[in-house]
Amino acid sequence: MKEFLIPEEIQEIAETLTRNGYEAYLVGGCVRDLLIGNSLTGGPKDWDITTNAHPKEIQKLFSTFAGATADKPATVYENDFGTVGIKTRSEDSTLKVVEVTTFRIEGTYSDKRHPDEIKFAKTIEEDLSRRDFTVNAMALSLTNNPQQTIHNKRKENVVGSKLSVVGLLIDPYRGQEDLKDKIIRTVGDAEKRFNEDALRLLRAVRLSAQLGFEIEQETQKVIKKNAPLLKHIAEERIRDEFQKLIMTPRAAEGMFMLQKFDLLEYIIPELLEGVGCKQNKHHVYTVFEHNVRALEYATEKNYSLEVRLASLLHDVGKPRTKSGSGESATFYNHEMVGARMAKDVLDRLRFPRDLVQKVRHLIRYHMFYYNVGEVSEAGVRRFIARIGVENIDDILSVREADRVGSKVPKAFPYKLRHLLFMIDKVRHDPVHPKMLAVKGDDIMRFLNIPAGPRIGDILFVLLEEVLDDPSKNTKEYLKEKVKELGVLSLVELRKLADEGRKKRDSIEEGVENDIKKRYFVK
Ligand code: ATP
Ligand code: MG
Repeated sequence: MKEFLIPEEIQEIAETLTRNGYEAYLVGGCVRDLLIGNSLTGGPKDWDITTNAHPKEIQKLFSTFAGATADKPATVYENDFGTVGIKTRSEDSTLKVVEVTTFRIEGTYSDKRHPDEIKFAKTIEEDLSRRDFTVNAMALSLTNNPQQTIHNKRKENVVGSKLSVVGLLIDPYRGQEDLKDKIIRTVGDAEKRFNEDALRLLRAVRLSAQLGFEIEQETQKVIKKNAPLLKHIAEERIRDEFQKLIMTPRAAEGMFMLQKFDLLEYIIPELLEGVGCKQNKHHVYTVFEHNVRALEYATEKNYSLEVRLASLLHDVGKPRTKSGSGESATFYNHEMVGARMAKDVLDRLRFPRDLVQKVRHLIRYHMFYYNVGEVSEAGVRRFIARIGVENIDDILSVREADRVGSKVPKAFPYKLRHLLFMIDKVRHDPVHPKMLAVKGDDIMRFLNIPAGPRIGDILFVLLEEVLDDPSKNTKEYLKEKVKELGVLSLVELRKLADEGRKKRDSIEEGVENDIKKRYFVK
């Protein structure tokens, strides 16, 4: 018998089930995390309840739960897995929707990824037997069931919205022991379980990294042997687990494991091109290790998913652009090739379009050049105009991860701190057509012309002037300028706009040429 703090919402749901004669258990990851304790895992990330009530019965019992009405019910039932989501009144994101799932036992798996049929089970023990790992196959009874010898006891000592509950732990596969020894082990025969559902290969690594547990020795061999089964798994499922892995504090260890167990080949084979790929005199690590070390730093700093992915993939283009060997090998254009490769990787894994776009952009511009005294304020404004104000912090984070991932002494050398100072200085200067003192509408009015391509070109020419000298961003000055530009033909105007565009590009090119020389990396 163990004592746990369980949120009130969970207690209420369990009591509703119990009152109506059903059993209710907490199960899976949340039981595991409750047993590990808050300090390590931060407590359960979601609360899963399992019951012998069938989905229809669950829906009936909870349609008016937490003040909901029959026409706007509190339940959502959208899948074929017997899971009903119950909306609570909680503000806590882990409790907003509680998933209640009917006991299940899976039928045969003929395709290594989906059971051919989902069958409801009669007992909690049957349900636990279909789960992946011993530490995930425990249930905590929330049932006030007279057939059971031990009753849950609701105590008076309320801590916050949580209640202390004494419950019976059902642990048929010695999960508690493996939890204590920090071991990931399959429920039953490893070979068979990975063959049923190959996603478990990746889940083993994800859980191992997330919990800091070791995968049991024999199981490690079975994983390596069965790695190609991952081919059968839908990219979306792989992505979800991979994303969870990337977000754990031990993401780098997880990446090394994926490589060691031959799983990476079926997730991001592009990264394997960097295994054994030596760099030049500026680097101690191979390309692969450097990429993973950059991710490691991004996780230490608790950076966002985008920055972590950009750090992991920032040099993915290097092997394909390598020229020469030894001390003076070069990697010209690796950031452009790498940005494109990263896009392909993330598209394939079905990451959302915005995220892919952002990561691609971060990688494309991670090589920006800056040296104190060599770049003017106008140059810094052009840099910001090119990368976007909203991306400044993330690009600097990727750069930091790149540096630390190369084992250089300082994450933020004087040069980068100076760039930050310059960015701060120009941060509020106009760097986007939207920030100009005249808008498209104004231009239409000043020149008495309709909407059309002229407007965009004029805005672009104005922005170039303002990037050089922000004090020109006044309505008076720009109005005069608009009138001057208004007499130009469309061809002349386009030529001016293109010159502006080239100016930015050539500055960019100049930057890259310079970097080529200095760092042997272009
Ligand atoms: P987290 O706390 O990170 O969410 P989790 O263990 O709860 O980890 P989920 O994906 O939420 O992971 O799965 C919930 C539970 O469902 C698991 O603990 C496990 O018991 C079971 N489970 C999930 N995926 C599988 C699978 N592919 N095969 C067998 N059991 C699984
Ligand atoms: Mg979970």
